[in-house]
Amino acid sequence: MDEKRPESVLSSPPAAATSSGGRTTADEKLTPTPECICRGTPPTPEQNEGPYYKPYTPKKTSFRGDVENGTPLVLHGRVVTVDGFPVGGALLDFWQVGEEGVYDETGFRLRGHQFADADGRWRLDTVVPAEYPGRTRHVHVKVQPPDGEVLTTMLYFPGERRNHLDKHFRPECLMDVHKTAEGWSAAFTFVLDG
Ligand code: FE
Repeated sequence: MDEKRPESVLSSPPAAATSSGGRTTADEKLTPTPECICRGTPPTPEQNEGPYYKPYTPKKTSFRGDVENGTPLVLHGRVVTVDGFPVGGALLDFWQVGEEGVYDETGFRLRGHQFADADGRWRLDTVVPAEYPGRTRHVHVKVQPPDGEVLTTMLYFPGERRNHLDKHFRPECLMDVHKTAEGWSAAFTFVLDG
């Protein structure tokens, strides 16, 4: 679909097209997720699964080969407990739309799971999801610690015009988004309650 772009941090061109703005070599690297997850950090809120989840996804850490088009996006971050301890080996199962704004309901394009490393770190190479009717830009995810309960939630992009028009939107689930030479990088720390 060829919808007009909303005002968004994603609306401006990638950093490669920008000659000013203080971009340095360091900016081209991924921004590390802040280490300071302090005691008492609120847990990441549960959000509804929606109608498009499919179980038994393939294990993959990149969705780039799933689609021909789309703006590159690196999602990354950690999984920690409310006490700040890393949740090594946590399962993360992502699903999203691409730039067409449509879920793959017959296969596993833009769907897949992975496991956080021993320090709770994870990374998914993907593309920027489009808005679709009734929804602001978002990525769905289920996060499950080893032998723990599944957290179903969604991640959002700051500055989206439609964020506050979307009844599902949760500001606690805004990612920290930055331009990179290739496209965009978005960080989020999942905080699990138990
Ligand atoms: Fe959705």
